[in-house]
Amino acid sequence: MATTRKVLIIGSGPAGYTAAIYAARANLAPLMLIGVQFGGQLMLTTLVENYPGFVEGIQGPELMETMQKQAAHFGTEMIPEDVTAVDFSVRPFVVTAGEQAFEAHTVVIATGASSKLLGLPAESKLMGRGVSTCATCDGFFFKDQNIMVVGGGDSALEEALYLSRLGRRVDVVHRRDALRGSKIMQERAFKNPKIEFLWNRAVDDILDVDKGKVTSVRLKNVKTSALEERPVDGLFVAIGHQPNTQLFRGQIELLPNDYIKVKPGTTQTSVAGVFAAGDVQDFTYRQAVTAAGTGCMAALEAERYLEATQAH
Ligand code: NAP
Repeated sequence: MATTRKVLIIGSGPAGYTAAIYAARANLAPLMLIGVQFGGQLMLTTLVENYPGFVEGIQGPELMETMQKQAAHFGTEMIPEDVTAVDFSVRPFVVTAGEQAFEAHTVVIATGASSKLLGLPAESKLMGRGVSTCATCDGFFFKDQNIMVVGGGDSALEEALYLSRLGRRVDVVHRRDALRGSKIMQERAFKNPKIEFLWNRAVDDILDVDKGKVTSVRLKNVKTSALEERPVDGLFVAIGHQPNTQLFRGQIELLPNDYIKVKPGTTQTSVAGVFAAGDVQDFTYRQAVTAAGTGCMAALEAERYLEATQAH
């Protein structure tokens, strides 16, 4: 095993790169395991207009490449491997990626979350071409158009309410006849004249892959099996997120919803020296800029921890 790292960062979204930039500038020579596919959820979006510093916005993948270059510029070492195991019961910690095992005095977990998807072939083909998982990222492209949102939880209601300010009409498709979302959000959505609920329906197909854009959605009534086609310009899939925490189960404390539990106002996990930043510990804001903010916090907290434990 090579020398023990001061800071090892798992994940390469805005939280991971920001942690790397701060740790590298603090002379902590961070090692980042960026994964086989680097960049996180922003690699799946197009124009990002709400990340400060870009007057006319920036493409999601370009933003992530820029962050990567910035982290590399200050000396972050990056390995394009997926982490396969961690051991936080030993000191230094051990993180395994493929054939290699790395030792580290501190670990920053920034593995993010993934949007749950419907799993239809057309969904992946039309992702970014009318299908989206993020209203605040892509809603703007559907100004005065017909929009559909799938899901019955708070995410779906929040997306529908947000999109109702932009679109002409917002259909909310839910597979049951009762919502899972909170009462207050339900009331707001029911009161909104632009929002219509289509109950007991599942998305059967999204058209039109041949045209390379969304033109309509075919719905199936789950009770009667009747099919219907609704013309829409955009489909927002809001059926929940899954934090990428499978690796850490049994190693650090997770919340009942599988997100990593951190001490409020910090990025400290239940294991001293292990920090969690970004969407893997945030089910409330889930923004690139808040992820970057907690990435910064994690690097500063790791630095303080190293100083306090004299491993620096
Ligand atoms: P959620 O509460 O788990 O709701 C997911 C919804 O998607 C459910 O209605 C579910 O249907 C539906 N669904 C799941 N898989 C589906 C599939 N394959 N096909 C069709 N529909 C499917 O997830 P969430 O809405 O992301 O909320 C997660 C947590 O974050 C909740 O605790 C929520 O309160 C919180 N949150 C809060 C806010 C806010 O307060 N502003 C905003 C967003 C999220 P069923 O109901 O039939 O299971």
